[in-house]
Amino acid sequence: MSSNAHNSGPTAHTLGPTPLNKATSPQLFTLQSIPGQGKGLVASRAITPGTLLISEAPLFAIPSAASERDLATHLRTLPKESQRAFLSLHNSRAGAGEPLSNIVRTNAYPLGPGSDLGGIFPLIARINHSCRPNAQHAWNGNEGEETVYAVREIKEGEQLSLSYHEGGPSSERRKALKEFFGFDCTCEMCGMLKDQIDISDERLRRAKTLDKAIGDARRVRMTPDAALKDCRELLRIYEEERVADLRVPRLYYDAFQICAMHSDKARAKVFAERSREARVMCEGEKSEEAEIMAALVKDPARFENFGTTKKWKLEKVPGGLDGIELEKWLWRET
Ligand SMILES: [Zn+2]
Repeated sequence: MSSNAHNSGPTAHTLGPTPLNKATSPQLFTLQSIPGQGKGLVASRAITPGTLLISEAPLFAIPSAASERDLATHLRTLPKESQRAFLSLHNSRAGAGEPLSNIVRTNAYPLGPGSDLGGIFPLIARINHSCRPNAQHAWNGNEGEETVYAVREIKEGEQLSLSYHEGGPSSERRKALKEFFGFDCTCEMCGMLKDQIDISDERLRRAKTLDKAIGDARRVRMTPDAALKDCRELLRIYEEERVADLRVPRLYYDAFQICAMHSDKARAKVFAERSREARVMCEGEKSEEAEIMAALVKDPARFENFGTTKKWKLEKVPGGLDGIELEKWLWRET
């Protein structure tokens, strides 16, 4: 996995060393050789979505701008066992010089969104990529560990997978994976027939357009109905594409913000709860983001931009709504 490339920190401050960590439930999977993919983690039994697969402290963490020399110096301070664990990890640019930096680039995960520290997690690093992954990783700052949760049903014998790419049309995904990780993706999405890939690509291109439009603050303020309609359409695309990663809680959070900004406490509460549930599925109950959402479920007015306008002012969900009727009300389609 790639380290976070955005960094300008001059000092090579490091965390750790920490001992090689445990899988929370080691009986859930085993490390196996996978034809054409080196090693991978394979489910030893059926696993349901929301199951914690791994919680792992970093072997060490280092600024993504650390030089080869910084890395070599740091590595020497680690116990022999940790050095061996690090050196046994995959290097997607083997033979291209800077072997330590390239192992970090291939395997590090940033310690939270926007962090310039990349953590090395030897067990999580064994999880191979899929453009439609069955698991989601996240940094939990409270615990000081990287977690991996199942986000889809995983069958016995199926490989655990994470996405190394943010998602997008197949050509973009495959180009980036080849460039940064040196492999041609053969996942279930990339392996579909051409006409299926074309349909999927069209949806994913539309998803990008919608996501950009939803992020336009002025539009959210001036034409919230259009922004909420975009959220609805994007959610449908995610359902069709079976997206089950962090894009789902983020999308519900966008819908929450639109309603909260225009004083609709009733809908904001429902969207906050959906965002929290989807977040818990990806990151567990102890996720910092899930805790923030729980507070917004209790009181949407805590949102910093709550009530920018009074346009949609509403306190309570109307009684007697269920199923399709509730969805129509929620998305303001009636
Ligand atoms: Zn793929």
